[in-house]
Amino acid sequence: MAKAHKLDCENAAADCRFIVQSENEEEAIELAGNHMRDVHGQDYSDEELRTDHLQVV
Ligand SMILES: [Zn+2]
Repeated sequence: MAKAHKLDCENAAADCRFIVQSENEEEAIELAGNHMRDVHGQDYSDEELRTDHLQVV
């Protein structure tokens, strides 16, 4: 099975249960970035999302 890139928003914001999971890393980063900006008003660079928030599962 292919690896998936996952961001569990609980890691970044304690009361949010949002989870992004995609086999496409770029898509996972884009979705995660949109969520962080739209829901939490926080701007993360793609690099920050990739290194600090995404897990490979
Ligand atoms: Zn969230």
